[in-house]
Amino acid sequence: MVDFTLSDNDKDILESVAAEAKAGEKYARYYDEHEDEVLPKAFPEAKVFPSILERIRRRPGDDTAPFIMQMLIKLEREAHNGVPLRQAPAALGNAALNAAGTPDQKARWGQLMLAMSITEPGAGSDTKAIQTTATLDGDEWVLNGDKIFVTNGVRCAGTIVWATVSKSAGRGGIKSFLVLKGTPGFDLVRKEKKLGIRSNDTAAYAFRDCRVPRDHLIGGDESVPRGKGEGSASYRGVLKTFNTTRPTVAAGGIGKALGAFRYARDRLAEEGVAVDWDEGRCDRSLAEQILLELEADIEAASLTVLRAAWLASRGQPNNLEASVAKAKGGEVCRSGPQRAMEVLGAMSLSHDHPVEQYLRDGRITDIYEGTGQIQRLVIARSILGYSSAELT
Ligand SMILES: Cc1cc2nc3c(=O)[nH]c(=O)nc-3n(C[C@H](O)[C@H](O)[C@H](O)COP(=O)(O)OP(=O)(O)OC[C@H]3O[C@@H](n4cnc5c(N)ncnc54)[C@H](O)[C@@H]3O)c2cc1C
Repeated sequence: MVDFTLSDNDKDILESVAAEAKAGEKYARYYDEHEDEVLPKAFPEAKVFPSILERIRRRPGDDTAPFIMQMLIKLEREAHNGVPLRQAPAALGNAALNAAGTPDQKARWGQLMLAMSITEPGAGSDTKAIQTTATLDGDEWVLNGDKIFVTNGVRCAGTIVWATVSKSAGRGGIKSFLVLKGTPGFDLVRKEKKLGIRSNDTAAYAFRDCRVPRDHLIGGDESVPRGKGEGSASYRGVLKTFNTTRPTVAAGGIGKALGAFRYARDRLAEEGVAVDWDEGRCDRSLAEQILLELEADIEAASLTVLRAAWLASRGQPNNLEASVAKAKGGEVCRSGPQRAMEVLGAMSLSHDHPVEQYLRDGRITDIYEGTGQIQRLVIARSILGYSSAELT
């Protein structure tokens, strides 16, 4: 039976997450307005808060599964309009290394912060269109190509790069490679300027005759499958990471909607407009009705995230559920702050209030790690039993 009831211990952890996230609020506007700056590894306030990861690890066995806790933590963190007091040591590339790397690769690079470079100027949703090439020359791979929108691309120690070893093999020719910062031929071209999540660095890279040792091929499998539409083991392995990262991304976006909802609810309550749950629909004001519906949508979207996480924590397939969570989260992160703005009126546009930032910061949820449309494609394929070649 699915049961998301939290133990007292877990409730305590979430309270301390909320307190930590609140302490990061004072830096939010500064880093939103100073996009060129990269967040420090830790702010002085971080010392006051114990490592949440350690606290989760030390809990007795009957508490909530760690992965479900991670979702709740992400939701609560993002519901505050703050920046993290300490930077996460890992990024999307680490998830890919964990999913598809050999034990030796995980031991060598697991401690480094690794970004993930898939997207190119001519290849976004359609990953099989990537043009970056990797050619074996003796005992080295030679990489050539351009990558854009690499999250954590400035601060990371290296990146996992998707490149094709054989264009004619389609997905089968796509493999991933680890490239460390400082490798000749690997250049950070620019830091992207964005609408939202401006405290979070995003980079563009160029690879020009960039040589990495042969054993930097993630997973180590050099064979190229010829089957129609089939991806290499490395490609499929890395894709699997999205089944755990998509619910996390969704949780972040829903958190933004939750933050906007709480802000609007509290401001209205201060003005004497408080939602009375027991009143009939016809007795409520429109503002109350909007808040009520928004809260219900946030709750529904959160449950899709928890279901995807629950399956993953039991080692069960969750491809469909991860995409449902991402599609639903992508919807709520866009409409949630928008609806909060409707009830707040003009003040919601002012930089004196955080709602406009929730709207800008949440928007990305429905774009990266697969847009909302792509999630709907994945859902349709899964329900109707089509392959990616049959339903595009
Ligand atoms: C802030 C930010 C951070 C990012 N971080 C990373 C990162 O760390 N690593 C990385 O590799 N990439 C990253 N990306 C890139 C992101 O994953 C891509 O932007 C995304 O995959 C969409 O690709 P695209 O922008 O090329 O859009 P396109 O693929 O060109 O799509 C354009 C529009 O067409 C729709 N569309 C496309 N194909 C279909 C279809 N078959 N059916 C229906 N509709 C379709 C899309 O949904 C979209 O609305 C990031 C992007 C941003 C903005």
